[in-house]
Amino acid sequence: MDPIPCPCCNSFFVPRNKLQIFCSRPDCQRARKALWQKQKLACDPGYKKDQKLAKNKWLQNTPGYWTDYRQRNPEKAARNRSLQKIRNCKRQENKVAFSTSKAIGIAKMDSSKVSNHRLLGQYWLVPTVAKMDPVKIFITTAPVCST
Ligand SMILES: [Zn+2]
Repeated sequence: MDPIPCPCCNSFFVPRNKLQIFCSRPDCQRARKALWQKQKLACDPGYKKDQKLAKNKWLQNTPGYWTDYRQRNPEKAARNRSLQKIRNCKRQENKVAFSTSKAIGIAKMDSSKVSNHRLLGQYWLVPTVAKMDPVKIFITTAPVCST
């Protein structure tokens, strides 16, 4: 099998099978797992619900975790407070925009359709018009469906 580039570290490696797109380095495997989990959370409501239940159970068994965390990392707590203020402002703006559009009768007619293509993997890009050699490309996706 030909070596392929890892989307995480960009180094070439020989995959064990056609489905392997990340190399075996621990950081790259962590990135692969994070990507998988992000896609799973976005596309699988059952998994999302189970993860939420597990998180809540863990928090119940670990009281005071976030209080300790904020005390141990005051710079991160301050950053989060600042970002939360921005999120609150955006939420307020969305509420105002929604109530305004509702009051004057504006509806978004061209809402984007959710497409959930599974394009992860290796493909050959074969030119049909221009004269050039086929090129092997690697496609990774980010979660596209929202819940
Ligand atoms: Zn890698």
